[in-house]
Amino acid sequence: MNIVRFNGRELSPSKIVCVGRNYVDHAKELGNEVPENMVLFFKPNSSISHKLISFLGEQLHYELEIALLVEQGGYVGIGLGVDLTKRELQSVLKKSGLPWEKAKAFNQSAVFSEFIRIPTELEHLEYTLLIDGDLRQHGRVSNMLFKPEAILSECNEFVSLQDGDIIMTGTPKGVGEIKKGAYFKAQLFNGSIESGDVLLTAEWQAQ
Ligand code: ZN
Repeated sequence: MNIVRFNGRELSPSKIVCVGRNYVDHAKELGNEVPENMVLFFKPNSSISHKLISFLGEQLHYELEIALLVEQGGYVGIGLGVDLTKRELQSVLKKSGLPWEKAKAFNQSAVFSEFIRIPTELEHLEYTLLIDGDLRQHGRVSNMLFKPEAILSECNEFVSLQDGDIIMTGTPKGVGEIKKGAYFKAQLFNGSIESGDVLLTAEWQAQ
């Protein structure tokens, strides 16, 4: 089983629940409607990785997201995750009204930082992705269509969240191709990015 690290412990999530189109600016950049109902899909344990790959059958795309770790039915940890996507294949599947798993749930499609204890307030958190030093994504919890508590209650209506399971909360605009050799730096801030109050930093070089 693949593992993630939380506060010095190793956990093996059974699944990752991902929220799609949770930021208006990202739904629009892909030409999608802003959803009235929450869009959810799954990645299995086998998708978890700590390496960022750039190609698997096609060029892969990144989506940086806040990842929340569940224990005993509630959020206990927070980290950053990259939701890797086969965008070309996903477009084909979407047009045909087919499930997205082949484009979203493949091996190494969920890359995580370490997880830390979750702050009591989430609303003011912000996060950024720099690629080779350029700011590509800047997300704010306050801009999420569906907030973390709403996501948890929607999940609880149809699936059991087991200890170690992870929720990926969606991505803001700025998604794009992962280029081999590119240097990714993701940071989570306890407030605005100007505050400089960094909770977490994760770095990956694309392979
Ligand atoms: Zn995503």
